[in-house]
Amino acid sequence: MIINNKEEICIDKIEIKDVIDMNLLQNFQDHFAESMDIASITVDRYGNPVTKPSSYTRFCSNYIHCSISGDKKCADCHRKAGEESAKLGGPYIYICHAGLIDFAAPIILEGVQIGTILGGQILIEKPEELRYIETARELDIEPDKLIEALKEIKIISEKNIKAAAEVLFLIANALSKIGYEEIKLKKLSKDLEDEVIKTNALLDEANKYNELKTKLFSTISHELKTPLNIIFSSVQLLEDYYNKKMLTDDRLFYKYSNIMKQNCYRLIRLIDNVIDMNKMGVGFFELNLKNNDIIKVIEDITISIAEFANRKKIKIIFDTDVEEKITACDSDKIERVMLNLLSNAIKFTDYGGMINVTIYDKENYILISVKDNGIGIPENMQDKIFETFTQVDSSLRRNFEGSGIGLSIVKSIVEMHKGEISVNSQLGIGSEFIIKLPIKLLEDHNNYLSDECLDLNQKLEKIKIQLSDINL
Ligand code: ADP
Repeated sequence: MIINNKEEICIDKIEIKDVIDMNLLQNFQDHFAESMDIASITVDRYGNPVTKPSSYTRFCSNYIHCSISGDKKCADCHRKAGEESAKLGGPYIYICHAGLIDFAAPIILEGVQIGTILGGQILIEKPEELRYIETARELDIEPDKLIEALKEIKIISEKNIKAAAEVLFLIANALSKIGYEEIKLKKLSKDLEDEVIKTNALLDEANKYNELKTKLFSTISHELKTPLNIIFSSVQLLEDYYNKKMLTDDRLFYKYSNIMKQNCYRLIRLIDNVIDMNKMGVGFFELNLKNNDIIKVIEDITISIAEFANRKKIKIIFDTDVEEKITACDSDKIERVMLNLLSNAIKFTDYGGMINVTIYDKENYILISVKDNGIGIPENMQDKIFETFTQVDSSLRRNFEGSGIGLSIVKSIVEMHKGEISVNSQLGIGSEFIIKLPIKLLEDHNNYLSDECLDLNQKLEKIKIQLSDINL
């Protein structure tokens, strides 16, 4: 990996093939060797060949390299020459162990040697045969044959060897520099691309937030205005009756005070929902988990609301697979979820309808089903109703009051419990909301079985607030 975890280019990991097209290098090396009569090969930073040898002489390939100790000595020479050339920062010319002239041109990137181009297998003057006979004997090569191959070695002027080494050095380094700049450019454009993606994501989020804010203002202004107008008219009427000394009948007073109370509940519900929605948005909405009997929590709240449903002649039937199931949950928030689903079921079900609350035990999780035979939800809206401010009928002339916040809060609470919520619904037939809630226990025994029970009045108050959108 030439790009590390911190997204930086690691020069120590760069290989020749990363910066130079290997076909181009082989081609260049072959042409260079052929035109200059100089053998050549390119090795990586560890001395391993990365190109095929170009124009190797018979002297080297058929004899020196064929001898085990000769081949080893060649490898040592290449390595040492590579090191010397790196120290020099340029071509290094030397006489190899077999008595031929070789040179090493380092390929350097940002001061780090990533490989070496080796050239040579040449002489600058006619050779002294005696020296080579000795070499042949040392390496266990037939002297006659080595001397015959020696005669094929090209004699090139020192000036030309220096120039050839310089050319190889310059071209290999220019090629690798171009390749390296290309890597840097690619990385830069990738960084820019990532930056653009991040900026676009932020922009999308800001747009969504703005959209939400606009929706929030329009929904809230409508939702605030309606109950406030009703409260205001009731106060005016009561004042009028009072001034005309007509407030002698208690029923008149209670009629208007109830209307005002219900609309105050509506305001409280809306404000509570907006506050919680904001808390969720900034991560301040927290669960207070305790090991609780979830069946009891659901059954109690269902029974408490049944009386209110009865005012619309709606029957609520509770059924469960299991009598008790202890799990870590926030009973207050689970009540809130159930109240929301049940109040929706009551709101969107006609007089005389039926609501079934059923709990299915699945060992590691439970399924809570809230099923009504109300108006149903069109298929294209079934996913959307969990989004904030979504109402199937959002027109101002709609039959049902609401802000479209409830289900988005329900979904968040269920997900905070690591659960899931889904809906099955058919227009005119009814809707079924299903919550899948995992069963898990807190190990801390202090958290076992909550005894915090809301008193009945508080519970009733909560139900009234939740049902305030429905005229019961
Ligand atoms: P609201 O305050 O409008 O009830 P919710 O987020 O609780 O907001 O619900 C969003 C919308 O989903 C409702 O306006 C309604 O159109 C639809 N909906 C929710 N529950 C039911 C149900 N049981 N039957 C039919 N429609 C429902």
